Amino acid sequence: MSLIVQKFGGSSVANADRVRNVASIVTDTYKAGNDVVVVVSAQGDTTDDLIAKAKELNDKASKREMDMLMSAGEQISIALLAMTIEKMGFPVVSMLGWQAGFITNSVYSSARIKTMKTDRVSSALDKHQIVVVAGFQGINKYDDITTLGRGGSDTSAVALAAALHADRCQIFTDVEGVYTADPRKVNGALKLKEITYDEMLELATLGAQVLNNRSVEMAKKYNVELEVLSSMKRVPGTIVKEKVKMEEMLIRGVTKDTNCARISLVGIDDVPGVAFKLFNQLAKKNINVDIILQSIGREGSKDITFTVSKDNADEAVELIKQMPYFSNCEISCNTDVAKVSVVGAGMESHPGAAALMFEALYDAGINIKMISTSEIKISVLIALEDADKAVKAVHDRFFNTKNL
Ligand code: ADP
Ligand code: ASP
Ligand code: MG
Repeated sequence: MSLIVQKFGGSSVANADRVRNVASIVTDTYKAGNDVVVVVSAQGDTTDDLIAKAKELNDKASKREMDMLMSAGEQISIALLAMTIEKMGFPVVSMLGWQAGFITNSVYSSARIKTMKTDRVSSALDKHQIVVVAGFQGINKYDDITTLGRGGSDTSAVALAAALHADRCQIFTDVEGVYTADPRKVNGALKLKEITYDEMLELATLGAQVLNNRSVEMAKKYNVELEVLSSMKRVPGTIVKEKVKMEEMLIRGVTKDTNCARISLVGIDDVPGVAFKLFNQLAKKNINVDIILQSIGREGSKDITFTVSKDNADEAVELIKQMPYFSNCEISCNTDVAKVSVVGAGMESHPGAAALMFEALYDAGINIKMISTSEIKISVLIALEDADKAVKAVHDRFFNTKNL
């Protein structure tokens, strides 16, 4: 007998028919002789709708109250799925995050799981019940509800799979697996049979929303093999694991992130300690900085440009304005930018990848504003309006067989 964790995203439980479909996948797995723990997200656009409702009343609501509100979506899904499974004649119990033992820190709206207390889930499994758990939520030391950040149900599923030592963790979604680009946006995107944790982590962090990046980080840490597959079509999906067979693939995927802002500080004094003071201050406020560019010094001054996520841009600019160090420099912030990236372990041994990407962008008439590279990724910052065109052009260049 195996223990299988199955996670279903919002579109997979969007309406009664979809909930019935999920119930049939879950009960088929159970009938085949497995223990099953199911993690579900809020139905369809429920989480977005809840956020919109909050904004109508208080657009600066505290994150604690936002978590109280946003966690409600998953509560509806678990009850609906459990009662559907109940009607089909199977033993089932639904649990909220705290009942399933998700103990988190107190960073409301993007809490991290600290420990898992899975006794209640385990004893339900001992009674041969199907356990349906609300994704995306946990509880902190003050007994307050917390949420794990958007897309956090993937992380809930991986955390449960790790804590319960599950044999398999399946992430069911509305596409058939992980593709070389978003299959809804790029014609000709190819489904990958396998991808490594490291590549998937880069893709997820750089905008491929099919898996939440924290879930991949956790899967790597606890060595939980993931399968991403469709809830609508019963065909094999993509396996995410430590090592994969090296196919003749220079890159594994192309992705875009439109949640970017570029902040420039022009005319900073060219003295030691500037970068430290700037980025230390941002780090203290939990503002993540991505691409950083510093110009060479000239006539005693230099410029620093960097990117942050759009939601952090205003706070970052305010912080910098309050720092006496930067009182003489010109500060600007541009939110009409996007980051387009290629990811793949194959690039380590093929130095031509960057040139191929830049050529594709040049041929498409797209101007590059910033560049950043690591061993397995190349990212460029471009105008927001060019993002989709850039992804298509780059994808076509890499996955058009004659260029491989
Ligand atoms: P769920 O609600 O199941 O969590 P998400 O909407 O979070 O689903 O993620 C699935 C979506 O991710 C797909 O519908 C697809 O449009 C998008 N996506 C972006 N990049 C990729 C990619 N490289 N491979 C597959 N899907 C991708
Ligand atoms: N419902 C949450 C969200 O929309 C969590 C999830 O879907 O994973 O972000
Ligand atoms: Mg998701």
